[in-house]
Amino acid sequence: MARLGVPATPNNYTIWYHDAAGLHPDLSRMLRLLERNQQPLTAQRCQDLYNRFIGTDHQSLLIDQTCSQLEDTMGRLRENLAAASSTTSSYAGLLDRFDQTLHTQQDVAAIQALLEDVLQETKAIRQSAVTLEATLASSAEEITKLNLDLTQAQHQAMTDSLTGLPNRRRFDQELAQQIGRAAQEARPLSLLLLDIDHFKAFNDRHGHQFGDQVLRVVAGILVTCIKGRDTAARLGGEEFAVILPDTLANGAEQLAEQIRTTVANSRVRHRSSGRDLGVITLSIGVAELLPEEPRESFIERADAAMYSAKRAGRNRIATATSQVAATPSVQLASG
Ligand code: GH3
Ligand code: MG
Ligand code: MG
Repeated sequence: MARLGVPATPNNYTIWYHDAAGLHPDLSRMLRLLERNQQPLTAQRCQDLYNRFIGTDHQSLLIDQTCSQLEDTMGRLRENLAAASSTTSSYAGLLDRFDQTLHTQQDVAAIQALLEDVLQETKAIRQSAVTLEATLASSAEEITKLNLDLTQAQHQAMTDSLTGLPNRRRFDQELAQQIGRAAQEARPLSLLLLDIDHFKAFNDRHGHQFGDQVLRVVAGILVTCIKGRDTAARLGGEEFAVILPDTLANGAEQLAEQIRTTVANSRVRHRSSGRDLGVITLSIGVAELLPEEPRESFIERADAAMYSAKRAGRNRIATATSQVAATPSVQLASG
């Protein structure tokens, strides 16, 4: 940490402890990649790493809470049903006794006394049925509400709040799913990794709020450029990804080029004053999944292609070659 100039905060310690102990291969891969590309480990970047790989966020907490509320409600429901079932079996016992008495007893007074008991018990069981019905109705209502909360919380946990795009977690899930599908059905799969150029400078010049506006604009452009089962996600910071099922590298390059030019041709304007804030550009890495390629290598090749587009001057796309190399090589496709 000292070598990298990372301050010794508790969160940073946690990140580098996870790395040293080999607890989180994705995190270690990202750290090596950042080092290799000589990316500074700014406070913002460390925070992003912590949030992405380690931190339990607000939504996860909300889901845990809702789940335990659901468990409580189900527990109460089980107790009520067990109580109702025991009342019903004791009532059945009473009816059996009454049946036997009717056949064996001659004494009318004894039969009458037992009949009184049966009547009392019938009233009690009717009352308990009414209570149970009310409990069931309110539990059903509570479960429906909690289910809805859970669905909403799960959706939120998968969504980037700034842009409304699927977040890193959703991206990871979707990519794993699509890799599985591509392998099973022998279909192509491509991936774009997109990073806004010189975004720090844009923030420094115009302020973080306008930076946020730009992130929303870029997200909007991605959504309008994709179709069908394609997924655009915000991976964090100013980094986005697009998963392209059934798409060969060639098609992915065409889409990347379309996104790149659409973004580069849009002028960013100050919303109220209309002041022109200049041009935003993207560097985009393109990769097509190789046969039996693991997810990490697929992402790494797309990432290496993206950094190669940066090194070649930014505002361009670069396509990963099919080599799974320790030092991935890339081809520049446009500029
Ligand atoms: P490069 O062309 O090499 O990608 O340069 P860069 O400045 O875009 O890259 P760097 O990683 O140095 O800085 C990324 C910046 O993105 C840092 C931070 O100011 C900005 N950023 C990250 N997340 C957000 C966000 O949520 N909102 C805003 N406004 N800015 C963000
Ligand atoms: Mg970046
Ligand atoms: Mg950038």
